Amino acid sequence: MKDRQAQRLAVLSVIISSIVVFTFFVVSKEEFVKLAEAKETVTTFAGMSLYENLETIADERRMEIEAELRQYLRVGLPDNIKESDVKMEADYVKRSLKIEISNVDPSYLDNSPIVGSCNHIVDMNWRYEAGKAYIELELDAASEYTVNYENDQLVVKFISPKEIYDKVIVVDAGHGGNHPGTNRNGILEKDITLDIILYLKELLDDSDIKVYYTREDDSNPSFDERVQLANQMDADYFVSVHINADEHSRESNGTEVLYYTADERSRKFAQLCTDKVSAVLNSRNRGISDGDSIYIVRNAKVPVALIEVGFISNNTEFHLLCSDSYKKKAAEGIYQAILEAYENKTEN
Ligand SMILES: [Zn+2]
Repeated sequence: MKDRQAQRLAVLSVIISSIVVFTFFVVSKEEFVKLAEAKETVTTFAGMSLYENLETIADERRMEIEAELRQYLRVGLPDNIKESDVKMEADYVKRSLKIEISNVDPSYLDNSPIVGSCNHIVDMNWRYEAGKAYIELELDAASEYTVNYENDQLVVKFISPKEIYDKVIVVDAGHGGNHPGTNRNGILEKDITLDIILYLKELLDDSDIKVYYTREDDSNPSFDERVQLANQMDADYFVSVHINADEHSRESNGTEVLYYTADERSRKFAQLCTDKVSAVLNSRNRGISDGDSIYIVRNAKVPVALIEVGFISNNTEFHLLCSDSYKKKAAEGIYQAILEAYENKTEN
């Protein structure tokens, strides 16, 4: 945990030093559009001479700078603002970033420039209410971000999680909201999968793995939001947890994992998951099978495993799946599979 923080600080300091270099160009580049076009402050950023300065830099260096510039958002802050007045909240699944700035006066949003790159930001909303300014950004892709305070600006940089964390995974609790999945006697698949994921979270919270969850409550992200979170965060592994049902036979039982047949990494990871989970649960190991017909499997660009923990339609497994101890064990099995996948990765 400490190593990760140290690493994060190191990355931040690199970012800070690059910001110093780029400061003079940021405000003048054409890629940086004024998001709030209606705002007149745009002209205060059109420093033509600074733009010309950039032109004099060798092409290679300029391309580097331009690439760097595309990642930033800058929000002007009033003089009196403290860092504690600024709250930020990212929704990685819905690809939004909310910025709340306290202790500002009503004219703040009209007078403060916000510049950013249109490469990352598709829409922006803002409003003022009772001493607070709320700015909400809609991003074109799931992204991690860093925050710096520089002079009178809040500088947000959009980055890949891999720039901060060595290990990144995405964990998905199947179904949610008004899509309960399979069910029996009022017990819903979406609740069992969420319980398992929350137990898994307890284990992963103590690890050195950065985890993005598609849901930690009864929400129902779209299939695309789930799989794109994994793809866009460039996850090392994408784990989706489900509960099986066989409407033709109450006998069917055991653990099974679906994988993407076009991806050998997916096959290996799925095999590991079915082996570990069935071993911990002492369930029948049904092995791995073709998951290509499933949207989140087929569209995963990272190693994916869709774990069918057990059968709700089987009497014995139904009762087990209702118990906390069994759900905890399932989480333990998944956790072991993830750890071993990383071990195998470093060996290769
Ligand atoms: Zn399911």
